[in-house]
Amino acid sequence: MAKKTIRDLDVTGKTVLVRVDFNVPMDDGKITDDNRIRQAIPTINALLEKNAKIVLFSHLGRIKEEADKEGKSLKPIAEDLSEKLARPIKFVPYTKGVELETAVASLQVGDVMMFENTRFEDIDGNKESKNDPELGKYWASLGDVFVNDAFGTAHRSHASNVGIAGNIDEVAAGLLLEKEIKFIGGAVENPKRPFYAILGGLKVSDKIGVIENLLDKADKVLIGGGMSYTFLKAQGYEVGTSVVEDDKLDLAKRLLEKGKDKLVLADDFKVTKEFSNDGPIRVANRDDIKADEMGLDIGPQTLDKFQDMLKEAKTVVWNGPLGVFEFENFAKGTLGILETLTNLKDTTTILGGGDSAAAAISLGYEDAITHISTGGGASLEYLEGKALPGIEIIDET
Ligand code: ADP
Ligand code: MG
Repeated sequence: MAKKTIRDLDVTGKTVLVRVDFNVPMDDGKITDDNRIRQAIPTINALLEKNAKIVLFSHLGRIKEEADKEGKSLKPIAEDLSEKLARPIKFVPYTKGVELETAVASLQVGDVMMFENTRFEDIDGNKESKNDPELGKYWASLGDVFVNDAFGTAHRSHASNVGIAGNIDEVAAGLLLEKEIKFIGGAVENPKRPFYAILGGLKVSDKIGVIENLLDKADKVLIGGGMSYTFLKAQGYEVGTSVVEDDKLDLAKRLLEKGKDKLVLADDFKVTKEFSNDGPIRVANRDDIKADEMGLDIGPQTLDKFQDMLKEAKTVVWNGPLGVFEFENFAKGTLGILETLTNLKDTTTILGGGDSAAAAISLGYEDAITHISTGGGASLEYLEGKALPGIEIIDET
């Protein structure tokens, strides 16, 4: 069975409620990364072509009290989107009430409107985040069809996704959600082999579920980044002042046993004495890290080994940078892998994780990767093999 998408919908003249993920990083009212906005555009354009009336909504940040609303309005995002679409977007600064209802009722075919941050409803008893039944029902009453395109919140049961879906006749995936299902779901369920996973980032504890699931599904799991040192220490090596999770050593031992030679660890590291870009750097083998040194990147031998292995892959899933890529001197591992992926022509490459995705885009490799996920936590849970509520609610065709 396949999930219904907007391709399957007849929405001529209908009011389509579209849950997008416009939870974008902002700094002082300015959008600092517009990837999620850009990724929502194909769905909006497709619905316009299908002669729909469009109501967009999203959450932005976390809102617990009145003061949290400061800087969390969706208005600047509506303005940015309006520029990108080159058409006006009516922004309604409410999440319910007569102004919102009137605005929706007066929509014409081809109109696009957006209402305010759904989490403003969290001030009064977490109605959005706890999926208050009345709120979902109310939002559902505004439209005829519900389209979920917010992958970034698909791992949550909120009023603005699951709540609406339970109170409306027709529920379809937007094109972005469809893409996330196709690539991440496809890699986990039915990958072209060899299927290699690369896992890095800061902590093992964030990614235990992903390592466990991918050890079952992938042909190899390559480990780099900060989480390497917990595995190294579990094997009895000195890791100096590198990041280690001491309470995860037993877990690391268990994963090493379970993974055997499927789990491929780094052999050498770039080490330095302080968490800085500017100190003296040397390459240390795994048995040669000194007590006053910290590893901030994989070493050249490991990069070579990983690059060689990846050349034969048909599917690659990558989550988590291989070093502190924010420091130029420790970005080589991450950059090297990005370079390799650029040159793999017949390979499906998928990148998940908030920091990894941002790194790839900011380093200029957006087009080199088949699919860069818009979900951080959601992509991790999906890679863990969990059913995501925001996907479960979509009708089957
Ligand atoms: P993602 O968001 O892609 O899932 P994480 O949040 O797990 O990734 O980790 C990203 C962070 O991990 C980056 O800020 C990076 O600097 C850090 N990191 C990577 N390698 C190391 C390391 N060896 N030591 C300390 N931090 C590291
Ligand atoms: Mg992160």
